[in-house]
Amino acid sequence: MDNLFSLKGKTAVVTGSNTGLGQAICVAYAKYGANVVGVSRRSSDETKKLVEDLGGKFFEVRADLSTTEPVKGIIEASFNHFGSCDILVNNAGIIKREDAINVLEADWNQVIDVNLNVVFFLSQEFAKENIKRGKTAKIINICSMLSYQGGIRVPAYTASKSAVIGLTRALCNEWASKGINVNGIAPGYMETNNTTQIRSDEERQEEILKRIPQNRWGKPSDVAGAAIFLASDASNYVNGFTIAVDGGWLAR
Ligand code: NAP
Repeated sequence: MDNLFSLKGKTAVVTGSNTGLGQAICVAYAKYGANVVGVSRRSSDETKKLVEDLGGKFFEVRADLSTTEPVKGIIEASFNHFGSCDILVNNAGIIKREDAINVLEADWNQVIDVNLNVVFFLSQEFAKENIKRGKTAKIINICSMLSYQGGIRVPAYTASKSAVIGLTRALCNEWASKGINVNGIAPGYMETNNTTQIRSDEERQEEILKRIPQNRWGKPSDVAGAAIFLASDASNYVNGFTIAVDGGWLAR
């Protein structure tokens, strides 16, 4: 093996590819040689350009991941366009901030649909197609600090991300023997659209910063190393585990 971390010849499907962590993961994968299928409901043109500027290949699938309807088509598109579908990063996610006492059922369901239900059924379709072809493959679920902690005013988000870390273990137990590695990344507090609201609250932003041993918020590119590791041969015997990329947050 020349380079344990190389993704050359592999195809990665990344959901939520137009911005934030998803965009950073697409760019990192392209740098390491993978073809990228970016799934987003808005245009991923910016990501496509970043990938192509690196000499990589990017294919966009436009899909609203608030229902499972697009799941089959996404995996099919990867096989049809690039001939394989080796890596799946379940990154798309939403957060809705509200006192638990006031959370509306529709908002609760929307968060669970995007952050959990689609993650499961997309993983199922991905595993089914790879197992059918006798191919090894990697699933990476984007978890959160709220896979471990309760959080404040985000009960549906916490429920969904706590479920996703459990799902990561559950799917490992069923699919590891079939050549599918299922792992997770739990980002700490990162500068993306997901945290715009809390970063605009100076007091809350300071409170969070004080708790981060590394003394800074994360940048989207901070998740690149873990994402490459978990997608590459370097992690072939890592399964069912979630790596925190959090500047030390969980160590406190
Ligand atoms: P972000 O910038 O808000 O990105 C979220 C991505 O998910 C966007 O591409 C968004 O598309 C996509 N998305 C949301 N709903 C969708 C839907 N119905 N259909 C298709 N795509 C949808 O935030 P981010 O921080 O990069 O989030 C990426 C992942 O990391 C999420 O799962 C998030 O929970 C997780 N995470 C983030 C942090 C953090 O501090 N930022 C920490 C822990 C975990 P649109 O742009 O069209 O909305």
